[in-house]
Amino acid sequence: MKIAIACENNMVTEHFGHCESFSIFEVENNQINKSIVISNPGHRPGFLPEFLGDMGINVIIAGGMGNSAIQIFNGKGIEVIVGANGETRTVAEQYLQGNLVTTGSVCHQHKNSNECGS
Ligand SMILES: [Zn+2]
Repeated sequence: MKIAIACENNMVTEHFGHCESFSIFEVENNQINKSIVISNPGHRPGFLPEFLGDMGINVIIAGGMGNSAIQIFNGKGIEVIVGANGETRTVAEQYLQGNLVTTGSVCHQHKNSNECGS
């Protein structure tokens, strides 16, 4: 299983679509096996859900994300958790322990312009 966390300097970022990078955690037997950080390849319409889906990501964690991006991920069978904050590895471990609950909050800031990440 793979978890992707929108981050900046190992901290979860507020805006999924505009994050500096993604921390990818590979999980086996509910333990983090490997972690890598990749740069955000950029914010283009419809690109990030494809990009992360193609990487085999199962779960996306961010501070906030636009509603249509959440729907695209869910349509691909990818779980989205928003409302997270703190250090990425801690957040990934909280998720694995079942202690991370999505708030369902979206980036209202982008309401009438670009959706965050879709
Ligand atoms: Zn945003």
